[in-house]
Amino acid sequence: MVGLVGEYRFARPTFYCATCHACQAPLDGVLGLGDCQLSPGLAEVVCEQAQKDSFAGASRSVLGSVGVAVPEETVRRTAAAVGGLIEQDQADRTAWQVADADVPACLLVELDGVQHAPARRLPRDEGGPSGRP
Ligand SMILES: [Zn+2]
Repeated sequence: MVGLVGEYRFARPTFYCATCHACQAPLDGVLGLGDCQLSPGLAEVVCEQAQKDSFAGASRSVLGSVGVAVPEETVRRTAAAVGGLIEQDQADRTAWQVADADVPACLLVELDGVQHAPARRLPRDEGGPSGRP
């Protein structure tokens, strides 16, 4: 396993199913460990960098900031895996609903220091070629 402190090993109970010949480690699910070899904390940093840069750039950024070498292909696989989980999580639009009890009766919005270019006026607003307003 590779984490924010570098590479480390840990032992955990694993179970072998004689029927389907699969090995399972229930603690992996509890700890949030997926199929990849990155700890959840390092995977989070890798995904944050992968959002901002190319996979190669994210790999360099993680090495520079955390000091842990994560190959470009591992960045790609991790970002793709997390992206797949996000897509799966957001597929059910009914889960996006905010409970009525959580909706405030009045929503106040304050803008501060916002500047924008004046809207471009269309020729017809200025009278246009015909001279009509
Ligand atoms: Zn089985």
